[in-house]
Amino acid sequence: MKPSPSMQLTLKSLRLSGIADSLEARLNEAKESSLGYLEFLQIILQDEVERRYAGAVNRRLKQAAFQEHKALEEFDFTAVAGSNPKEIKDLGNCLFIERHEHVLLYGPPGTGKTHLAQALGNRACRNNYSVMFTTAAKLFRKLAAARIECSYEETMRTVLKPQLLIIDDLGLTAFTQEQTEAFYEIVAERHQAGSIIITSNRPPGDWPGLFPDQVLANSLMDRLAHKAHHLPLKGESYRKRGRPQQTTT
Ligand code: ADP
Ligand code: MG
Repeated sequence: MKPSPSMQLTLKSLRLSGIADSLEARLNEAKESSLGYLEFLQIILQDEVERRYAGAVNRRLKQAAFQEHKALEEFDFTAVAGSNPKEIKDLGNCLFIERHEHVLLYGPPGTGKTHLAQALGNRACRNNYSVMFTTAAKLFRKLAAARIECSYEETMRTVLKPQLLIIDDLGLTAFTQEQTEAFYEIVAERHQAGSIIITSNRPPGDWPGLFPDQVLANSLMDRLAHKAHHLPLKGESYRKRGRPQQTTT
């Protein structure tokens, strides 16, 4: 059974594209299984809800600008030591975002820090939170450029806006005074308003040494650390697993 062109137009003008797409198949199903009116209505409305949810998630994923699609389900918890897998999995329910708590993932290269940060970000998008993923280098470059172009405030607002901000690879190099001030502002502003996930090759205990200004550093670390889930990751780099075996002759 084919919906009439005028029906398609009505659905389009009401922006019910989920119903428009599935209506023909649903009408056939309804006819075959003699569905009641209410059941039929329920099914096509559900199609619309699902279509809208999928669209919203896709928009959130796009806005988040992840480097790669990574999921918690793809993470091999037997390969890491240092953190409690249950604690990591529990973060996947995104309650930490609701509570404006932070997550600090740190450990040697290849232990899955960026994977987990993006996987938690992916969960957040699916739970309808706004997310921004950036590397620390990119973030500070963007803010430095904005300072020159006199659009610092506006750029800072875009950084502070998402409910979850993910900063990958913080502390690879020491912070400049400008970067320290920007980072302080981010942490201070998000204190009551949003969550941050930070990944770093260095443990948070080493971060204060990277800041030129110890007063700002102490205040910043105090705000960050006391509301944060600390997730140290230990072990061999997972990247090595894909490498061909070395032959010794
Ligand atoms: P890091 O950010 O700690 O340097 P990545 O998260 O970039 O490490 O991990 C390197 C690669 O190994 C990625 O492709 C990631 O998906 C994979 N990987 C790392 N740890 C695990 C794990 N425990 N289970 C599955 N894949 C992993
Ligand atoms: Mg990484």
